[in-house]
Amino acid sequence: MMKRKGILVVVSGFSGAGKGTLMKQLVRTYDTYALSVSMTTRPPRPGETDGREYFFVSREAFEQKIRENGLIEYARYCGNYYGTPREYVERQLLAGKDVILEIEIQGAQKVKEMFPSALLLFVTPPGIKELRRRLSGRGTETEDVIKERLCRAQAEAEGIEAYDYLVINDDLDTCVEQMHGLIQNAHCAPGRNQELIEVLRTQLKEMCAHADGTAQGQS
Ligand code: 5GP
Repeated sequence: MMKRKGILVVVSGFSGAGKGTLMKQLVRTYDTYALSVSMTTRPPRPGETDGREYFFVSREAFEQKIRENGLIEYARYCGNYYGTPREYVERQLLAGKDVILEIEIQGAQKVKEMFPSALLLFVTPPGIKELRRRLSGRGTETEDVIKERLCRAQAEAEGIEAYDYLVINDDLDTCVEQMHGLIQNAHCAPGRNQELIEVLRTQLKEMCAHADGTAQGQS
């Protein structure tokens, strides 16, 4: 049996769509996933811990990381840098884990260019009123920041068609199961099993050549 290769799974969605909670539950429920922790220059929100939600760094440290080619992708979002550290992702993929990147839309596009077999999922709440309610309900952002994030969501909504699937986060458990199903199905796509296909073809070729030889010997 060939070792199953990990898939890079990009999860994007409007700020307030509940991506963080979804991803935590997905990773807690199934041990085939590894969640990448991004690096950011945004200050931590109350309750966030360095190395758990993000690696919180200065702008200088972030720019140094860019120069070292230590990030798979990075983007600016509402005045701050966000990026995906390379080393962890590459290590987990090699170990056969499906690696989840919870990143915004520009980063998602860059990942798809570099890793065409990445699976792109876009998460949305059931409606925009609900999005507004969730953003205000967090109680961690000022009204100005909330407005900025809603405007950013408007721009992001224009890019949804570039994703493979759109997932509605209404009920947490249902949404987690749906995402898990989509990722598992993605493993069955021929394009993500090219090595196995080549092995099957080679073995068939050998077997047919052998069968030909046997048939000729018998005639
Ligand atoms: P927040 O400040 O709400 O934690 O995140 C703001 C946005 O940045 C979210 O859309 C989130 O998905 C995105 N983000 C988080 N980490 C990364 C990253 O490493 N790269 C990119 N491009 N976006 C990220």
